[in-house]
Amino acid sequence: MAQVAEPSERFHEAGRRWNLPGTKEEDCFSWSYDASPANSGQLYLQSLLRTKRFDIDSLLPPPPGIDSIAWLYEHMRQICIELGIYVSLVHRECTEHQCPVMRAQETTYYCAGHGSPRPCSAIGYSVHTLDYAVRQLSQRDSTSMKHFQSMVRRLYRIFAHVYFHHRDVFERQESATYLYARFVRLARKYELAPESQIIIPEIPSTVG
Ligand SMILES: [Zn+2]
Ligand SMILES: [Zn+2]
Repeated sequence: MAQVAEPSERFHEAGRRWNLPGTKEEDCFSWSYDASPANSGQLYLQSLLRTKRFDIDSLLPPPPGIDSIAWLYEHMRQICIELGIYVSLVHRECTEHQCPVMRAQETTYYCAGHGSPRPCSAIGYSVHTLDYAVRQLSQRDSTSMKHFQSMVRRLYRIFAHVYFHHRDVFERQESATYLYARFVRLARKYELAPESQIIIPEIPSTVG
């Protein structure tokens, strides 16, 4: 008679490397790896994140066999995946009604996801900007440093909005993931954002 697999066995079923609907956040990306940097930069980065998520220094240098631009590309792709989860969590309290305009403190940002830039709700801006970034990243060959810079500038505002207007969500998420810390360290390492645009501390003193 067939044995019913334990949940942990089902979770690690052979070869599956995607998060099933309903997977708890802390279990996301929890599969086994045979990845090497050369055959899959994305899987290799995800494997590093499983064990070294909070040791950002160890995540940033390109591993052997990957050049620095390819490694930056893998990081940006992974940040967009995690930002998708992040934005859906933020949406619980950042609604079109609550935040009808995208802003951080008093600065309002136009959304570039509409052909010509126009005002958008904060959650609309976040979703549209993330979609736009994912579309750009899917055209890997045409992704240049200039694209990365404008992508980082736009994505940064998502964090800035959450930091200034939903601080408890920001701190809870940052404590659990260090996603902003990784994003900003990457932006600094690759000079993707001028210092004047970096308006949130790398690791806020209340996060730990
Ligand atoms: Zn909001
Ligand atoms: Zn929009």
